[in-house]
Amino acid sequence: MAVSQNGWTVQTTAPAEKLRWITGRVLPGDVATVFDHFGAQFDARVEAIDTAGSWGWNNRRIRGSAVISNHASGTAVDLNAPRHPLGAVGTFNEAQRNAIHAILAELDGVIRWGGDYPGRKDEMHFEVNASMAAVTVLAGRLRGASPVPVRRPVPQARPVPQARPAPLALDGVWATATTRRLQQVLGTQADGVVTHQTHAFQSPNPGLGAGWDWSGRPGDGGSRAIAALQTRLGLTSDGKAGPQTFAALQRHLGTNADGVVSNPSAMVRALQTRLNAGAV
Ligand SMILES: [Zn+2]
Repeated sequence: MAVSQNGWTVQTTAPAEKLRWITGRVLPGDVATVFDHFGAQFDARVEAIDTAGSWGWNNRRIRGSAVISNHASGTAVDLNAPRHPLGAVGTFNEAQRNAIHAILAELDGVIRWGGDYPGRKDEMHFEVNASMAAVTVLAGRLRGASPVPVRRPVPQARPVPQARPAPLALDGVWATATTRRLQQVLGTQADGVVTHQTHAFQSPNPGLGAGWDWSGRPGDGGSRAIAALQTRLGLTSDGKAGPQTFAALQRHLGTNADGVVSNPSAMVRALQTRLNAGAV
């Protein structure tokens, strides 16, 4: 008698057992018990099963191979096949993969997932990968077990809409909004304030507006955003913006490197343009 890849006997006609989770059949008895339980867990904890896209018995060879598929012995199912095509990787998100592996562990490793194949992945595919004796032991345990509480389904892998910040006005004035965006891009606290700056640099730089705090004292560390910016520019990062920092930023942005922030400032306008693109 022909056997499928896992050693189970090939069924030349459709098995009698209609599994509620799929369009198709699986081997009756212990295999059906295991797959029925597995389907319920998958449906509750991984993603809702669409029976129209989920299949079972099929007397065929593994696609691209001479080996007889485990679908032929009624010991394999494909779940939500259109969403998890053969050969595709990453069709489940990490939480879903974790849920699949948790369920398989609860089933004593009797079922193997095609997403765990070392070679070509088959993420829709789940198959018996154990002896008849092991399946019988597991099915007996499942029949005796009290119903497993249905847990909340894992959210599906959908891109979370990111709140896109409104673009900065290209007004050439470095004020709170520009500072906040710079802080976001540099990964420092985004409060829109450039703390502890040197008072002597306020009046020579009229393009520095609201949110510049001119109460700085030597050694107070200045602003973390300025320090991060100085690091980016290859300067000593003392957190204090002055002619050197402005000139380096002007060179970086390709504007006239006079070290002064005019009102309006071509340097600030170039910085705002970069920040709108999420960069410095
Ligand atoms: Zn399959």
